[in-house]
Order: sequence, then C-alpha cells, then structure tokens
Amino acid sequence: MLAEVISIGDELTSGQRLDTNSQWLSQRLGELGISVMFHTMVGDDLDANIAVFRAAIERVEVVICSGGLGPTADDLTRDALAAAAGVELYEDAAAVEQIENLFARRKRPMPERNKLQALFPRGSRIVPNPEGTAPGIDLTIPRPGRSPSRVFALPGVPAEMKTMWNATVRSALAAMRPSPRVICHRRIKCFGVGESDLEVMLPDMIRRKREPLVGITVHAATITLRITASGPDEAACRAAMEPTANEIHSHLGVLVFGEEDDELEHAVVRLLRERGQSLSVAEWATDGLVSHWLAEAAAENHGFLAGAAVKEMAGLNSLLSISGRSASPASEELAISMAEAIRRDTGADYGLGIAAFPEGDDGMLHIALANDQNTRSKAFPVATHPSIKKLRSAKLALNMVRLALLDGRST
Ligand code: AMP
Ligand code: MG
Repeated sequence: MLAEVISIGDELTSGQRLDTNSQWLSQRLGELGISVMFHTMVGDDLDANIAVFRAAIERVEVVICSGGLGPTADDLTRDALAAAAGVELYEDAAAVEQIENLFARRKRPMPERNKLQALFPRGSRIVPNPEGTAPGIDLTIPRPGRSPSRVFALPGVPAEMKTMWNATVRSALAAMRPSPRVICHRRIKCFGVGESDLEVMLPDMIRRKREPLVGITVHAATITLRITASGPDEAACRAAMEPTANEIHSHLGVLVFGEEDDELEHAVVRLLRERGQSLSVAEWATDGLVSHWLAEAAAENHGFLAGAAVKEMAGLNSLLSISGRSASPASEELAISMAEAIRRDTGADYGLGIAAFPEGDDGMLHIALANDQNTRSKAFPVATHPSIKKLRSAKLALNMVRLALLDGRST
C-alpha cells in the first residue's frame, strides 16, 4: 500500500516555514508499514490544489494532507478535494454545532466565516478535532477497476494534526491493511572515511531492492548507514536487521562509533566512563565546539573535566601554564603544548589540544592528545567546505580521542 503526503500553504512553498508535518506523518505511516512514495507541497491556489489531489488520488491508495482547513479565504482544501473527487460540499449540522460550542466555551462570538469549516465533501466522514475549530475530512474516492484511494485532510497546526492522527487516522489506516506490517529502521553511525570508500568496504550491500535495505547518507563528515526492514511486528523487523548490522560491524570495525542518535562525543563519554578516566580540552580552531559537545554529552561528571576556548595567544598564555609565544598558533608545537598544559592544569588523565586553522586551505590542522606517558599529535588537511570545516575538525579531534581510548593508549 503506497501513500502520498501533501503539505498545503503559501508559507511553506515560499520557504518562510519548514514543512515538519510531512516528516512526522511519513514516520507514522512507516510505522504502520505503509510506504510513502511521494511528498508534495503546494501553495494556496485552488487550481493547483485540485491538480495535486487528482494526481495523488490517481497514483496512491492513501493520501494524507495537512493545511488549508481554516476559515479564511486562502483555506481551499475542502473545495479542492470536493472538486478533485467530483462531489459537492454540504454543511454538516453536527459540525456546525461543535464549532459553535467551541466558541461558546471560549466565550467568543463565532464569526460567520467559521461556518465554512462545517462544509464537507459529500460521502466523507468527519475526523473530530478536539483542540481546534477545523475538523478533518476522511474521503474514500472510488477508482474504477482498482482499489479506491482514501484521503485524510488534517489541519496544518502540528499539535492538532498529531492529536487527530493519534485519535482517529492511525486506527482507520491500520484497519485497512489485510495483514499488519510495520517498517523499522536502524541507524549505524561511522566516522573516519569518505562515503565512497565506505561503500567499497561493504560490497553489494548498498543496493536497491536489497532485503533489508541499506542506505547511506553523510552529514558533516559523519556517515549514517540506515537499515530498513518490514515485517509483521517490530521484533520481526529487528531480527531481520540483525545479520546485516553484524555484517556492517565486522566489515567496518572501529569506523563504527555508535547507533541511532549517537554522536562521537557520546562514544567518547561512554569510553571515559567505562575506563573511569577523564579528559580536558584546549581548543583554538574549533571555538569551544568540542567542549560544548562533551559537556552536553557528559551531563553529570562523566569524565569531561574542563574546556578552554582560546582565540589569542595572550589568552592562552594567561589561561594555561604554557608559553606559546614562539610557536605559531597553527603549529604542531602549539597543539602539543595546549594538550599537555590543559592536562596538567586540570589534573585530567587526557589533555586534548587543537591548534588554530592554518592560513589558506592547503595547510594542516594540528591536534594533540596527551596522557601521563606521552603526547601524540596528528595533522589533518583542512581543505573542506567552509561551512563544515569547524564541525569536521571538532569531529576529527573527538575521533582521535575515541581511538586512543579504544587502544588504551594515546593513539
Ligand atoms: P492551516 O491549517 O493551513 O491554516 O495552517 C495553520 C498553521 O499551521 C500554519 O500557519 C503553519 O504555521 C502551520 N503549518 C501548516 N502546515 C504545516 C506543515 N506542513 N508543517 C509545519 N507547520 C505547518
Ligand atoms: Mg494555510
């Protein structure tokens, strides 16, 4: 059973507001085992809305739309849906009464226009809206020679839309499926290689129609492998994904740092906690990003002791017991001094030092990690898009700590 999700509103098509309803609805449809094949977004124009509904009714069995059910002149969903289905609108007496009651409860007179919200395409069912004035519409449209297409029109206000989904739409859709199926996802997070290198390490896994399906996405240098399986229930999906997940882990080894919402800082904090060890950070290029991430991930005293963000040599000299006057801010020497000084000054097991970005793009960023035995440093090229340079550098630094902790020595 395929579905289409339609979002309606000029505020969406003009880019002033982000369409979060489609994301939420698609996740819920997936949980019911209904695959979403199309996302459509359309402005507040009657002809365009009619065309969008016609196309959706033609190509899928389930259509969920949100927006355009208000009482104002730009709310066109009920007219468009009736026109696309070839039926007329009628005024539902019970719905008029409900809207009147709602205004009475709010002790406000009901504007005449709100009566428009009691208009329904003939043959439709009302989806009650306990939180607002706009009821939703549930309309089944016959398709000669094929199973019908069922359209649910919900208000755009996310809270109302969600309440109505939970109260009415979900169970109505669940009842439509001959045998219940769910779709589940599992995300495996990797860092340390590019996506094409990673794909080569997983021969024949990233291919369409594979069961379970494995997809690959990259966001700011973190690679996510998403496994998707469908089955009669969640436990069956999880069991079907297990061998694929194991295969990924065994092929990629330490490139995998976590699953689901894990980020590198969570992996580092986890390792620090397991080993009962602590880390402090002095950072220049990354503007406090590593410390911020670690502080958030560590929550309450789980190994992250202190972070120092510096931007001037004078600040560094007075904050930490080092004299970096002779070193360039972008040098290996400075990264090492920072790592050793922050470790010594805070009494941490590990000190991480991140030097400044080199001038120009062809230089290297120096990162150092000190423990009580030694200090190791590494240089990383920074020729990457400016928008992710800082993020990537912060992740490279965290990954260096992670690998060192995994090794039980400073890389
Ligand atoms: P409407 O039902 O078209 O009157 O929409 C009511 C309000 O809900 C709009 O002003 C938006 O702020 C919000 N809204 C509508 N559609 C969406 C959507 N797809 N995602 C997030 N918010 C939305
Ligand atoms: Mg609107």
